[in-house]
Amino acid sequence: MISAMNVKPNYDVIVVGAGPSGSVAALTAAKFGLDTLLVEKRQEIGVPLRCAEAIGVDTLREFVEPDPRWVCAEIEHYRLIAPDGTSVTIPPFEPTLILERKVFDRELAHLAVMAGCTVRVKTQATGLLTEDGRVTGVKLSGIGGECETHAKVVIAADGAESQLARWAGLRSVPRTGDVMITAQYVMGGVECDPNTCDYYLGRDIAPGGYGWVFPKGNGLANVGVGVAGDELKEDSALGYLERFVGRLFPNASPVGLVVGGIPVGGPLRRLVTDGLMLVGDAAHQADPLTAGGIGYGMLAGKMAAECAAEAIRRGDTSRQGLRQYETQWNKVHGGTQRRSYRIRELIRHLSDDTLNQIMSVAAANPVEKVGVRNMALAALKQHPKLLLELGSVLLK
Ligand SMILES: Cc1cc2nc3c(=O)[nH]c(=O)nc-3n(C[C@H](O)[C@H](O)[C@H](O)COP(=O)(O)OP(=O)(O)OC[C@H]3O[C@@H](n4cnc5c(N)ncnc54)[C@H](O)[C@@H]3O)c2cc1C
Repeated sequence: MISAMNVKPNYDVIVVGAGPSGSVAALTAAKFGLDTLLVEKRQEIGVPLRCAEAIGVDTLREFVEPDPRWVCAEIEHYRLIAPDGTSVTIPPFEPTLILERKVFDRELAHLAVMAGCTVRVKTQATGLLTEDGRVTGVKLSGIGGECETHAKVVIAADGAESQLARWAGLRSVPRTGDVMITAQYVMGGVECDPNTCDYYLGRDIAPGGYGWVFPKGNGLANVGVGVAGDELKEDSALGYLERFVGRLFPNASPVGLVVGGIPVGGPLRRLVTDGLMLVGDAAHQADPLTAGGIGYGMLAGKMAAECAAEAIRRGDTSRQGLRQYETQWNKVHGGTQRRSYRIRELIRHLSDDTLNQIMSVAAANPVEKVGVRNMALAALKQHPKLLLELGSVLLK
């Protein structure tokens, strides 16, 4: 029987949260022919924006071809700026785009609909249904009232503050230093290179993190700071942001404000339990060094839904049956994330003086002459101890 909320009593898969991870999970499950429900608590998918919207093209293309409707800028360079203003320009690690996420997120959900998934907006998961300790569905509250609906697998894609992970007993609370606290203005009237992402380093700008200026075209840019949670003793992220934009763009004006935390401690040890899987920020799958989570979230959504489909086919959606996802994630991406975390821990405590020295040597060895690798090595040779420590992290 269909409930007043227009939701059936049973599905194969219910995905909670229509960010990039959830929509890709729903799209993948639907492509396997699974009866899939995707619920989003907000009334509009993609709004409000909580992102600086940068993503590598190669990762994106695994899911969808770039479309001018949601691509704002193509990035040709990254520019790293030291505390004393010395700057170094390098090519992006992979070709990078700046998205218009409110259009992009909606498009991903639309693709899921086209694949046969049912989507409900303004529909919040308010609790889990369990039987003998295993997750069997969700309680929903939304347009038309409240209802309970069951699924063979629930995929929690409900973001950094995931309640589903906590309800399922999978949440480990991150250390304060393992959360990047961010504040960002979408600003108009910004004079910046339209094809360069700028990263500002230094304790006055963003201790334990960085400040950024990502162009969105026509003088619009995402201008933000991300500060390590354990560094926010004297000021808030918004305070750091105010000083950052005051210094860089005194004549520009904000047209939007974004605040939020990003889990940067590396993926949770347990990503599944009986009947439930975690993906994206809910699983702490953002890159610890850059705090980028769109690409990893989409990869996780796809991987989780593929494993869910296989588990449903075998008729075993217990923790053991779903565990292939956890194993596969750790094998394919877990190592990179853990390495990235160790590099973050090494560099986030560097003094401004050290950063200035490293960057001035890098600037004297321009990338177009010596290549990225030699430029980095020349810079690090200034600090043999750091070079040794980084070397040991990279070789592990
Ligand atoms: C300021 C800032 C800048 C960033 N910049 C970048 C960047 O440039 N590049 C990058 O790759 N990453 C960036 N990130 C990180 C990136 O935004 C996230 O990693 C990414 O959005 C994670 O996707 P997700 O689908 O896992 O979660 P989200 O995008 O957070 O989506 C979760 C969804 O679940 C919904 N939801 C939550 N609870 C419920 C519930 N109970 N019921 C129903 N729905 C629910 C939410 O409304 C939300 O729509 C940034 C983050 C911040 C805060």
